[in-house]
Amino acid sequence: MIRECGIILGLHRLPEAYLLESNAPIAFTFGSEDEWFLVISSGLLKILDHDEVKAAIGHECGHMKCHHIKYHTLAEMLVRGVEFSLDLAGGLLNMLSPILRLMLFSWHRESEISADRAALIVSRDPAKPVSLLRKLARVIPGLNNPVLEPLSTHPTHEERINRLLEFYRSPEYRAVRGKVDWRLAISKAISPICRFCSGSKPTLSLFCPKCGRSQV
Ligand SMILES: [Zn+2]
Ligand SMILES: [Zn+2]
Repeated sequence: MIRECGIILGLHRLPEAYLLESNAPIAFTFGSEDEWFLVISSGLLKILDHDEVKAAIGHECGHMKCHHIKYHTLAEMLVRGVEFSLDLAGGLLNMLSPILRLMLFSWHRESEISADRAALIVSRDPAKPVSLLRKLARVIPGLNNPVLEPLSTHPTHEERINRLLEFYRSPEYRAVRGKVDWRLAISKAISPICRFCSGSKPTLSLFCPKCGRSQV
């Protein structure tokens, strides 16, 4: 699924993926511009069906595609400022003006909207990411209070669903679909032999397991 999302979204590299043994229903991505790590909890896999897992992976790959990772890490530190306040980086972050914090959180909320669009692009059907968001709204009810929104890194689930459906009806979405169909056509034409190192590779994989290079 991660490989498929990588092809559809045109990632230049796949993330390293980890399963977190935890009942908390979470998925997140961290790293730098050169290295990405995707973490999904067993608690999340337990409550999602196949299509919802794919939408969740598409969402996280969307953050990679849009280069959100580094600022998410910063926002994460701000949210958990108290725990970090004793070390130097945390001390400096705590001095960030309240206005800057609100701006970073507002940017973060928009980044979630972009990642939801990636989830739609890999799912093709808006019902899949919408059912993922509805499920998350039930298990993480804290994110549903619009009054707290300016202080949150995530928009309310209702807002995310509305913005997703808005995008689905837009000409931009139709243009992206054309691009994705082209990528999928190329991925189908790929041979079981790597065109760089001549090693054998899974036929549908764009990335050679031996030398790691993308075939397009
Ligand atoms: Zn996200
Ligand atoms: Zn190769």
